[in-house]
Amino acid sequence: MDLQLDGKLALVSGSTAGIGYAIAHTLAQEGADVIVNGRSQAAVDEAVDRIRSQAHGRVVGHAADLSRAEAAEEAVRRHPGIAILVNNLGIFEAKPFEDIPDDDWLRFFDVNVLSGVRLARLVLPGMRRANWGRIVFISSESAVQIPTEMIHYGVTKTAQLAVSRGLAESVAGTNITVNSVLPGPTKSRGVGDFVEGLARSNAKTFEQVEAEFFDHVRPTSLIKRFASPQEVASLVAYVASPLASATTGAALRVDGGVVKSAF
Ligand code: NAD
Repeated sequence: MDLQLDGKLALVSGSTAGIGYAIAHTLAQEGADVIVNGRSQAAVDEAVDRIRSQAHGRVVGHAADLSRAEAAEEAVRRHPGIAILVNNLGIFEAKPFEDIPDDDWLRFFDVNVLSGVRLARLVLPGMRRANWGRIVFISSESAVQIPTEMIHYGVTKTAQLAVSRGLAESVAGTNITVNSVLPGPTKSRGVGDFVEGLARSNAKTFEQVEAEFFDHVRPTSLIKRFASPQEVASLVAYVASPLASATTGAALRVDGGVVKSAF
């Protein structure tokens, strides 16, 4: 299937590793021009080189903390004509509710919600002028099944669904679509490191910790394993493409069936 992404300019926030990297890589392989973003110049350069060697779209790097207002403004100024925005960057941390101070709540809101809101606000005028655009929020199954071990994270992921749906309604009748994608547990760099750390400290293998996680922590998973970042990226690339023109205002799951719902 040709996703018809040739020449479309895409910004993927937080794309030097994990799900964001897989999305940037897939979009570039499909012919999109991609802006790779991460906070360190070295990580951005390395990701750009890796993607360039395997893709035919134009790939450029932009090192900046896109959860900061000035950095987001500068990124959109430096790269005019963004047609596809993937709000991927996000943080998570397991912490009991009683131990989450106001500062953490505000930081999670800032990084996980406001960063995407701000970038969407900055790119929307250009999309309206072009009467074409794709905005994708990378939310989580945790938006629907709030994890008791990180309620603040879950709340920010639910907020992304509300923003995404509201924004889709506000551009009704245009060729701009806005959707959220809900990955389930995915073996990204962040999660992979976390599980490997757990395995090491408990003298277990990665596979043992993975099996226990799906037995006890996410028992509703139907695939009984972590998804790969590529499995998430394939859905995102389709949603970001012209082919997905009738998919908007939706919350699309790539969660391995973790959310116990038929629709
Ligand atoms: P990750 O930690 O593996 O990678 C995140 C990337 O974002 C890294 O390149 C990191 O350097 C970058 N980044 C983080 N903060 C940034 C900032 N302020 N500015 C620029 N870059 C920044 O993460 P991941 O697991 O791939 O998660 C990506 C998204 O997917 C997040 O929004 C997360 O909530 C969501 N998600 C992940 C999972 C999972 O199991 N991995 C499940 C559901 C949803």
